[in-house]
Amino acid sequence: MQFARVVTDLALDRTFDYKVPDHLQNIAVPGTRVKVPFGRTQKIGFIIELTNTSDFPHHKIKPIHSVVDQKPLVPASLIALGEWIAKYYCCSIEQAIKVLLPGVIRSDKTSKKRKMHYVVKLVDRKKAQANLEEIESKKPKQALVLKKLFQNGEVLQSVLRYELSITDSAIKTLEKNGYVTREKVAVVGDLFENEEVIPSNDLKLTGEQADALEMINSEISSSAPKVVLLNGVTGSGKTEVYLQALRHCLAQGKEAIVLVPEIALTPQTVERFRSRFGNLVSVLHSGLTDRERFDEWMKIHDKKVSIAVGARSALFAPFHNLGLIVVDEEHESTYKQNDTPRYHARDVAVVRGKIEKATVILGSATPAFETLYNVKQGKYLEAKLTERHDGQVMPAVKIINLKNESSELGGSYGIFSKTLVEDVYKCLNQGEQVILFLNRRGFATSLQCLKCGYVAQCESCDKAYTYHQKFGQLICHYCNDIKQAPKVCPSCQDREIRFTGLGTERIEELANKIFPKATVARMDSDTMSSDKDYKRVLNQFRSGKVDILIGTQMIAKGLHFPNVTLVGVMLADMGLHIPDFRAGEKTLQLITQVAGRAGRGEVPGRVLVQTLSPFHPALQHAKNNEYTPYFEEEMEARELFALPPYSRMVLINFKGLNPDLVLDTGRVLQKSLVEAFKTFEGTTVGQVTPSPMEKIANNFRYQLSIRTNQIQKVSAILRQIVVSWKLPKDVKFSVDVDPLSLM
Ligand code: ADP
Ligand code: ZN
Repeated sequence: MQFARVVTDLALDRTFDYKVPDHLQNIAVPGTRVKVPFGRTQKIGFIIELTNTSDFPHHKIKPIHSVVDQKPLVPASLIALGEWIAKYYCCSIEQAIKVLLPGVIRSDKTSKKRKMHYVVKLVDRKKAQANLEEIESKKPKQALVLKKLFQNGEVLQSVLRYELSITDSAIKTLEKNGYVTREKVAVVGDLFENEEVIPSNDLKLTGEQADALEMINSEISSSAPKVVLLNGVTGSGKTEVYLQALRHCLAQGKEAIVLVPEIALTPQTVERFRSRFGNLVSVLHSGLTDRERFDEWMKIHDKKVSIAVGARSALFAPFHNLGLIVVDEEHESTYKQNDTPRYHARDVAVVRGKIEKATVILGSATPAFETLYNVKQGKYLEAKLTERHDGQVMPAVKIINLKNESSELGGSYGIFSKTLVEDVYKCLNQGEQVILFLNRRGFATSLQCLKCGYVAQCESCDKAYTYHQKFGQLICHYCNDIKQAPKVCPSCQDREIRFTGLGTERIEELANKIFPKATVARMDSDTMSSDKDYKRVLNQFRSGKVDILIGTQMIAKGLHFPNVTLVGVMLADMGLHIPDFRAGEKTLQLITQVAGRAGRGEVPGRVLVQTLSPFHPALQHAKNNEYTPYFEEEMEARELFALPPYSRMVLINFKGLNPDLVLDTGRVLQKSLVEAFKTFEGTTVGQVTPSPMEKIANNFRYQLSIRTNQIQKVSAILRQIVVSWKLPKDVKFSVDVDPLSLM
C-alpha cells in the first residue's frame, strides 16, 4: 500500500497520511497539489513524500480525493529543501513550504488567475482578399486587421488591439461576418512588458577573469560541483564572469538563478542580464503584484525562461534542471530573513546547490568572514580578481580624526572636517562628483536641550526619538510612534532646544550652506518612497545635474558612476560601538563598499573616512585596503572567545509586556535546555539576559544563546523541544539559528 504525506495550509506542524488510490499512482507524486478529505470538508494540500508505512491504523486512512495538477507543481528537490529548512531553522514544515511557494501559487485559485487571450485567425483568405477593397472604404479599421492577418496568418487579439490602435469591436464584427475566428488560449505574462534592451556581447576577459571562469565552468561540468567564492575587488568585473558562466550553464541545457540583494535590484543590474540573455530572464522582486508573480513563477515552471534574477525569494524558483546559483554580494545581511523561518539565502543556496548538484558562486568584494573561513578550511574554492579591468587603481582611503580636525566653520559644521571641505571644493572645481555617505537616516539622532540636558525619549522603548525636520516630528524607529516635536524644552522652557546628532537631512542642509554653488541631492529611505524617485535621482546624478549625492546604505552598493572621484564617510563610528561581535566586520565591509563607488572612471578615486575612533582596527585596515588581514586578525579573537565561525550560535528571544513573567519563563525554559543538551559535547546553553534593545513597542525583551559545534544535531533536537513549549499567553519567543543581529 502506498501512502502520501500531505501538508495542508493549516497552522499545524504536522503532515497527514492519505492512501494513494490506484488510478493516481504515478500522478500523485511529491510536489503535486491534491484535494484530500479533512474532517467533514475537503482541503488542498501538497504531497511532500510517498511512503509504504504509516503510524495510523491503515484501515482508518482515507484516500486522496483527486489531484489538482496533472504534473507536480513543485520539483521534488524543492520539497526536500523545504524539509531541510524546517529542520535546520527550527520551524514547522508548513512555515517552510510558505517560504518556497508564493501565496498565489499555494492557493487553489491559480488556474482562474490565468489571463485569457484570443488568437484571431482568418476563416477564408480568398473571400477576405476579394472583399478587402470594399471593407477598406467603409470600415478601414477592419481592413487593417485583415491585412495584418494576411501577413501573419494568426495574431493575438491583444496584439492587434495594441499595434493597430483598434477596439475589440472591429474584430468581433469581422467574426460575426464570417471573416475570422477567435480561439481562447492561455498566455503567460504581459506581452508588452518587455522594455527595449540593447543586446550586448560577451566581453574579452582579463587574465584573472578567464582563470575564474575556467574554475567555475569546470565545476559546472563536474558531477559533484564545489562552491566557488569569487573574491573580487569592487569594479573588478565579477558580473562579467557571472554572465559568461551563465552562458556555459545554459549551453549545457541547464538553468540558473542569480540572487542579488533587494537593494541592488536596480534597473541597472537587471538590464545587464537582460541585454545578454533577453527574454530567457525572469525577474522576481518584492514589487510584483500577485498576478505578475504568478506569471513569472509559471514562466519558470513551464520552462519558458532559463534564468531567474531576483532577491532572496528567487532562490526558490521552481527549475527542474538547475546548473548554477549565483549569490552576488554574498556578505549582505539582507539575505537573512527577519521572520520565521529566519533562513539565510546564501546558506540555503549552498544547500540547494548540494541537493541538485548545481554549482554555487558566492561573489563579493568583502566576503563574510564565515565564507572566508570556509575557503580556509578547504570547503569552498576561491577565485580572486585583484584588479579593475582597465587597470584603474583602488581608491586611496584616508582616516580623519574628527577630534582634531573639525572645520574652522565651527559649531555643528564640525562634522565637515577641514580636509573634507577642501577636497569637495577641489572636486567641484574640476567638474567631478562627490558622494557623502552616512550610515543613518533622519535629521538628528535626538532632540536635546543644551541648557538642561533634556533628551526627548520614547516612553515605551526607553530610546531617544529621532527628529525628522521635514515634518517637525519625533519618530521612534523601534515602535514607529510619531509625535510633534516641542518648540521649547519641556523641562526648562528654554527656546534654544537644539537638534544634536546627525542625519542625512542635516548633512544636506549643511552641505547646501558650505557649498552654495553645488547642486545637492539626498537619497535615503525617507526621501525615496518609490522606485521612480530612486530612478529619477540616480538619473540626475548620472547626467551630472547633481554634484553632491548624500545617502545611506542605499547608495553603497552596485552603482557605477565614472565621474565620482570622492567619497566621504561622514561618521564611521556609527556602526562601530554596538553590542555585536560583527561590528568591526560590518563597518569595514560598508567602508570598502562605499569606497568602491569612487574612481570608476579616468580619475583615481579618493575616500575620506571621518571618525572619533581613528585607531579602531577595522578603520586602520580600511586605510590600507586590507580586508583579508583584518579577517586574519579577527579570526584569532573569535577563536579565543569561541565565537562564530569557531562555533555556531542559536539565539532564542523572549518578549512580553510583563518583564518578570518574561524573565521567569525564559529561566524555566533555559533550565530545560541545559538538561536536554548536557551530554552534548561542545554545546553550552547561556543564561537568560536582557537584549541590547531591552524594550521595543512596550515589549520587554530577553534572550539566551546556545553555542555549539554540532549545529545540525542541536537544531534538530531543539526543534522538537520548542514545538512542545507551552508559554504563558503574554510571552512570545522566536528561534534564530545563525543569527546575524544580536540586538
Ligand atoms: P563588479 O561586479 O566586480 O563590481 P562590474 O562587473 O560591475 O564589477 O565591472 C565594472 C566595469 O568593468 C563594468 O562597466 C564592466 O562592463 C567593465 N568590465 C568588466 N569586465 C570587463 C572586461 N573584461 N573588458 C572590458 N570591460 C569590462
Ligand atoms: Zn518607541
